[in-house]
Amino acid sequence: MFNKKVISEYIYKKNKILSLSIFLALNILFLTGCVNKNTYKPGNDKPFVLTTFTILADLARNVAGDRLLVKSITKPGAEIHSYQFTPSDIVKTKGAKLIIENGLGLEAWFSKFMISTGDIPNVKLTEGMKPLLIDGDAYSGKPNPHAWMSPKRAMKYVDKIVDAFITIDPDGALEYSSNASTYKAKLESLDKELRDSLSSIPKERRFLVTCEGAFTYLARDYGMKEAYLWPVNAESQVTPRRMVNLIKKIKENEVPTIFCESTVSADAQMEVAKSSGAVFGGTFYVDSLSDLNGPAPTYIDLLRHNVRLITKGLSISKVKK
Ligand SMILES: [Zn+2]
Repeated sequence: MFNKKVISEYIYKKNKILSLSIFLALNILFLTGCVNKNTYKPGNDKPFVLTTFTILADLARNVAGDRLLVKSITKPGAEIHSYQFTPSDIVKTKGAKLIIENGLGLEAWFSKFMISTGDIPNVKLTEGMKPLLIDGDAYSGKPNPHAWMSPKRAMKYVDKIVDAFITIDPDGALEYSSNASTYKAKLESLDKELRDSLSSIPKERRFLVTCEGAFTYLARDYGMKEAYLWPVNAESQVTPRRMVNLIKKIKENEVPTIFCESTVSADAQMEVAKSSGAVFGGTFYVDSLSDLNGPAPTYIDLLRHNVRLITKGLSISKVKK
């Protein structure tokens, strides 16, 4: 009996000590959780950064993980070259830790925008990058700003984002670097996947015809020729001469299928298709992601979607009219 009592008291005490230890351990966990939560609260209190357009926002989110909130100034589908920013865009910059731009003359509105936002640091993701130049037409010799259309170059964008995030949040260095290497591995395999897909097109048909000359980097990476209605959307004027020149090139090269982009009207390109005998092969996403339910809600989806259309459109031979 006695022994039993002692034993049961001992067990009771032991349980009490155990409960106390668990209670303390849980408290420590809870407090630690609170500390982390206090540093990076979800929602509006989380430190946030802005990008000029949706594609950069997606790249930046892949680096930020849960540490930073990333928002795009322009919405999906917006024309980003000559975007007219609004007073509410300026209001949204309040409290931003960083603003990320592409550069190479892409965002014609950006310097004016930055003057209005006051003292927020900004980073140009193409800084130090050797651009491809626009060949011919009114913009001849100027840098082509669409460098993100090459996955290899997008990896360089990611490196720049990591550096910029570490500057504003040094404690996150390990997390940013680790997120970036996971994402760059995905871009590396995307590059291989796109190369494999495009190399299935017969060599003589690797000729890409678009509205904007935004595919120069992609065409260079994967050994394609390109022609377009206008060099950059900032100067998206369709002239009869540009249309006639393009129709001539399509006929000469027997291009079976031509395309246009989501942020501009495809009307002129439809006319070109009719006059040249080419098929209109669908809408590319280049300067903007689609919304979440569309075919290009992420940068990786965007390139996959475009390359799927190209591969399908150029694998057929031209129907002679
Ligand atoms: Zn563009």
